[in-house]
Amino acid sequence: MPDAPKTLPATSPPMTDRYAVIGHPISHSKSPQIHTAFAQATGQDIAYTAIEAPLDGFAATVRAFREQGGRGVNVTLPFKLQACEFATDPSEAARLAGAANALRFDGERVFAENFDGVGLVNDVQRNLGHALKGRRVLLLGAGGATRGALLPIAQQGPAVLAVANRTADKAHALRGDFAAHASIQSGGYAELAGESFDVIINATSSGLVGESLPLPAGLFAPGALAYDMVYGRGLTPFLRQAREAGVTALADGVGMLVEQAAEAFAWWRGVRPDTREVIARLSVPLV
Ligand code: NAP
Repeated sequence: MPDAPKTLPATSPPMTDRYAVIGHPISHSKSPQIHTAFAQATGQDIAYTAIEAPLDGFAATVRAFREQGGRGVNVTLPFKLQACEFATDPSEAARLAGAANALRFDGERVFAENFDGVGLVNDVQRNLGHALKGRRVLLLGAGGATRGALLPIAQQGPAVLAVANRTADKAHALRGDFAAHASIQSGGYAELAGESFDVIINATSSGLVGESLPLPAGLFAPGALAYDMVYGRGLTPFLRQAREAGVTALADGVGMLVEQAAEAFAWWRGVRPDTREVIARLSVPLV
């Protein structure tokens, strides 16, 4: 009897899905390391690279990546505003922030999200154990990072949500832009005199240039958390100010970075990675 014809299994190997982070400069980015660790831990077959786009070439770089089969990108400085404009379907968080840090491609559509704020909230509440509900929360700075953080923080129901900035008018403008979503106090640093807060988040880039902020005495309530979004620099001038004021709960922004990455990964892949090990690996001592 002749052998029965054999049915061969489909031979085409599974396609590796491609993702990338786009910025300028980009060599400092920890996103490839973070997403590669997430992919290994969750068994997802992805390749994640870093792409430096020319300053005038963000949209062209995204289009080229997409044409080569890219499924989504993270976006970092200075392209977060352009990423939001590029999207056909920006989320409410991205629209309110006017900025996006993650894009997902689906046919002709480009979905945009801003995960920085939810990453911050997850780090503060879940990892650091400081609930925001009913607490007095202060954001220092009125740039893109504060814009991204305001809605997710407001959604936690703080008793007070305040924004103070070197250029007070920018803080006032934020209060106006978010008026439909949150009640925000706004002003310059001098107007903080006599007030105290339970959670104080430095969302300025002052630490990158080694400068401290003119914060009035008594700003940190007993048991307060001092959080600097800057990461990887040890004890920043802001964290040193807090420690000198007696604050013992100090954190930099490494947890925020990893948590926003986890949000993007879950959005793209439908699988939520554990963040603890990656945060521990990227953390530097706050000394
Ligand atoms: P941005 O849009 O350029 O805004 C910068 C802010 O910092 C403005 O409010 C500016 O005040 C203030 N500022 C700059 N230098 C200052 C100084 N010497 N003294 C006082 N205020 C100063 O920047 P951004 O995108 O909001 O980012 C802010 C910081 O957050 C950056 O350091 C960034 O690395 C960090 N970040 C971290 C994460 C994370 O995942 N951990 C995510 C996003 C951002 P004026 O308005 O008065 O100029």
